[in-house]
Amino acid sequence: MPVVLPRACVIGAGPIGLSAARVLAAAGFRVTVIHADHPTTPSATFVGPAAAGLIEPVAMSPADEALVAVMFRYAYRRWLAAEEALGVDARVVRYSVAPGAPPPAWLAEVDGLTQTGISSWAFRTVVVTPVTWLAQTRYRLRARGVQLCRQRVTSPAGLASLTRQFDVVVNATGPGAWALGDEEMFGRRGVLVWVAPHPQLTDVVFDDASFSYVIPQRRLVAVGGTRDEHRGDPRLWPRQPSAADVAEILGRFAQLPGAPDLSTVQVVGATCDYRPARPRLRLETTSEGGRPVVHATGFGGSGWTLAPAAGFAVARLCLTAVGLPEMTQDEADEAEATARAADAR
Ligand SMILES: Cc1cc2nc3c(=O)[nH]c(=O)nc-3n(C[C@H](O)[C@H](O)[C@H](O)COP(=O)(O)OP(=O)(O)OC[C@H]3O[C@@H](n4cnc5c(N)ncnc54)[C@H](O)[C@@H]3O)c2cc1C
Repeated sequence: MPVVLPRACVIGAGPIGLSAARVLAAAGFRVTVIHADHPTTPSATFVGPAAAGLIEPVAMSPADEALVAVMFRYAYRRWLAAEEALGVDARVVRYSVAPGAPPPAWLAEVDGLTQTGISSWAFRTVVVTPVTWLAQTRYRLRARGVQLCRQRVTSPAGLASLTRQFDVVVNATGPGAWALGDEEMFGRRGVLVWVAPHPQLTDVVFDDASFSYVIPQRRLVAVGGTRDEHRGDPRLWPRQPSAADVAEILGRFAQLPGAPDLSTVQVVGATCDYRPARPRLRLETTSEGGRPVVHATGFGGSGWTLAPAAGFAVARLCLTAVGLPEMTQDEADEAEATARAADAR
């Protein structure tokens, strides 16, 4: 008898949706990815390309601290093993918290951790250049037989109707979750000042107390940040950084340890986007007319960081939803290694 593979529809082609599609395809699903926006251009419903790309948990709810640390343990290993061709570059992070504040739980998971002061550490991580990863991953998914098509799901009813065409539907819509009925979703405003590469800006600097950071991507350096909350319809949030935002961020940047003289730094622009946050990260299965919908939303300022672990968690929920045995992390790693070997051929 021919084997009929289960069909999965992933709504969203950001880091979470594409990571889920990768693991689902490796786990044996026939995968279709539906996305509303241009593949590498940020919008009110697509924040992935606008990110700084630091692989380190940022701006999450304290209520998720334990879950984030567990997801980070797996995701961090996967990022350290990722190829440069995906836009992933090794970096040293100089990280600090407010004097006397406890270090976050995830810090115990990093490689090369060295205490450099009472409340400061250095460790190894990677920085991903989002548009490179998105473009390369889409290309590889297509080569693995995943279908990608551009289409906006306009309402909760539209999402429900997809459940009649697929065995399981994945909601990985980031900020788009609001329009699909998730009223708990909110945005944390992130203004980034982009500066040209500079000989003194080679390491990541991240001061948690003042929420000030410097993140060297492959072509530009991101300087931030802000994290004030916005609620309601994301399409109505202002997306223009003000001159005051830029001046305030550069003022804090100048105070960071090792910062170069501002007169030697070339500012090339500034952007304003919103991290798609929730009071609690959402990783769960619900039922729409008796058919399963797996939700993977609310990754806030850590969607890139946690994407490999989110992809794995989504695949496990999908396997359970269609009545197949769950896969282990080792099995997922093995399936990914096989797929990578096939990519290379
Ligand atoms: C300034 C800034 C800096 C950041 N820096 C970092 C960082 O350094 N490290 C880090 O880990 N994270 C960072 N983030 C956060 C990160 O970008 C997000 O957590 C991540 O993009 C969320 O991924 P996602 O796939 O859930 O959503 P998105 O990347 O927003 O993708 C959503 C996808 O869903 C699709 N979609 C939405 N609505 C619909 C619909 N109705 N129908 C069909 N498709 C739909 C969109 O088209 C898109 O393809 C930053 C964010 C900002 C704003």
